[in-house]
This record gives sequence, structure tokens and C-alpha cells, in this order.
Amino acid sequence: MGEPPILPHDPGCIFCRIVAGLIPCHKLYENDTLICFLDIGPVVPGHTLVVPKSHYHNVFDVPAELLGHLGQFLPAMAKAVTAAVEAPACHILLNNGSEAMQSVLHLHYHIIPRKRGDTFYVPWLPGRLDVDTARDLIVRITKRLEI
Ligand code: AMP
Repeated sequence: MGEPPILPHDPGCIFCRIVAGLIPCHKLYENDTLICFLDIGPVVPGHTLVVPKSHYHNVFDVPAELLGHLGQFLPAMAKAVTAAVEAPACHILLNNGSEAMQSVLHLHYHIIPRKRGDTFYVPWLPGRLDVDTARDLIVRITKRLEI
């Protein structure tokens, strides 16, 4: 048996400290790659976090393979969470960067179960996409797409 791999880690990061067992959490599940626990400030009952054990800031720096693991895992946990609180739907949400409401700079997904008439409010105010803006954005985005 070899040594366990040394994961990217930030000792000042609250989620790294949870992963290391230095601070408690209400754990739902863990495996070699990720840990799931209840959000300490739930926006609705059942609000759950899915957190990779490795410290990466967000999807801009996480390896694709790890993102793949997380993506494959998410449906099972989302189904369990929504069923447990008898919700018909959920958000699977990732705040990617401080300006996008990411407060803990360690990649994580929120699973937020939703019911009609619940108290969670997302102020999503649609604008209007005009043709010139759309054409300009298509050029600017596609020329930067590194795939
Ligand atoms: P975000 O704004 O997307 O970075 O979300 C961070 C989430 O982590 C918030 O919903 C917090 O309530 C949650 N959180 C912060 N500290 C803890 C903790 N010690 N245990 C559980 N959840 C936490």
C-alpha cells in the first residue's frame, strides 16, 4: 500500500479545515474525492454543499477530471436531498468567483431543494438581447473558446 495522495490544500480555507476534520460539519457523505455536508446557513431546509476534498478556487482552475467526478456524483445527492424534504425540484448551483457571490473560495456546489411558494428568492431580472449585441458576443466568445 502506498501513501495517500497529498491533495491541494489551503490551511486557511474553512472547507479544507472541514475536509481535514479540524472543524465539525453535519456530514452526509464522503469518498476519496469529495465530501457533502449541510450548509450552516441554509436558505431552505436541506440546503447541501458538495465539496471536492482538493482545494481549487473554482471551475477556472479545477482539473477537468475532478469536475467530471463531481458532475457524475451530483444527481444522486440532488435526488436524495430533494426526496428527503419532499421537494419536486432543486437548484444545483455554483458561485464562480467573488463577484458571482462565491464567499468560500474553495469550489463547491450548492444543492438547494425548491418547492412552490418557498421562501428562497433569486432576483433574476431578465433584460433583452438585441441582434447586434448577440452577434458581437458570439464573435468575442467563440474566438476565446479553448477546446
Ligand atoms: P458561496 O457563497 O457559494 O461561497 O457559499 C458558501 C456557503 O458555505 C454558504 O452558503 C455558507 O453558509 C456555507 N458555509 C460556510 N461555512 C460553513 C461551515 N462551517 N459549514 C457549513 N457550511 C458553511
